[in-house]
Amino acid sequence: MLEVVYFTSVVLCVLGSDAPCLNDGGTCQYDHLPCPGGYVSGLCSGASNRRCCQSSGSDAPCLNTGGTCQYDHLSCPGGYVSGLCSGASNRRCCQGDDSACLDEGGTCQDDSLSCSGEYVSGLCSGASNRRCCIEDSACRARDGTCQDDSLSCPGEYLSGLCSGASNRRCCIGADSGMCSNVKVYSRATWGARDPTSVSAISTPVDLFFIHHTTGSRCYDFSTCAAKVRNTQNYHMNTKGWSDIGYSFLVGEDGAVYEGRGWNNVGAHTSGYNSQSFAAAVMGNFMTTKPNTAALNAVKNLIQCGVNLGHITSTYRLYGHRDVSTSSCPGDALYNEIKTWPDYSTAAP
Ligand SMILES: [Zn+2]
Repeated sequence: MLEVVYFTSVVLCVLGSDAPCLNDGGTCQYDHLPCPGGYVSGLCSGASNRRCCQSSGSDAPCLNTGGTCQYDHLSCPGGYVSGLCSGASNRRCCQGDDSACLDEGGTCQDDSLSCSGEYVSGLCSGASNRRCCIEDSACRARDGTCQDDSLSCPGEYLSGLCSGASNRRCCIGADSGMCSNVKVYSRATWGARDPTSVSAISTPVDLFFIHHTTGSRCYDFSTCAAKVRNTQNYHMNTKGWSDIGYSFLVGEDGAVYEGRGWNNVGAHTSGYNSQSFAAAVMGNFMTTKPNTAALNAVKNLIQCGVNLGHITSTYRLYGHRDVSTSSCPGDALYNEIKTWPDYSTAAP
């Protein structure tokens, strides 16, 4: 019996390890000795009164980064950082590998903190409540970028994929040059009312119509946005339409204001609404044509539609008056677009 006990002690002595204590920056010693940092049980080999004297320093700075304090000769895939661990100078903070989260554009943090996107598990090192806050994950999933939609977007803006304010939208289509030269103000930005109904348009379309709104011209965002809102009210309240009629409106501030946009059938050119998009330049252009900024915005908008695949590359351009008895888009603007290469004299 004695022999068995003796044998067991020897085995403990040989196999027992102080590593759990040492790895915490502590020192194994008999607990009658002074220890300013306090003793912790269960981390030392040997007798039960041989316990781990905690370093008076703290490992919290390391642990808070998701790291682990250990001696720096040990393998550490995430790399070591000095100055975050208690104990010996070669006891350093092995950084957790957060690359899976970082690669998703996220940030590893304690998930009790607010995250304007959503938390995703399994991408962060450290404690289980240290999770990856991915802002705008729905937009990122489509390779988009969330930004204020008054900024130019090389592709197009999509709603509902970004956190934050409603005019913070997902810019899709980063292929450079596709639409980088046209500024499109979203409905949220100009203050649109919701449509009472929408009907998806089948694209690409072959036809593009130019209109003018008549009435006053506008040269800055606030005046143009107010004019777009008035036009929407007129179309919905007086004409009883489901929404503003035009696909897009264009101001002499050189910007485009999203009407029904690229996704929906408009109400602009009777008989052709489901086969075309239309842009209305704001103002009356019977005697003078729009300024260069507005004309360039129209041209760039159409090219953007072609680049995005909403309009065929062999599309035909018309003025509203080509298919109606209206004087729209005004003599001066009509004469202008007739000089554009894609204007067609063939009946649509
Ligand atoms: Zn018209």
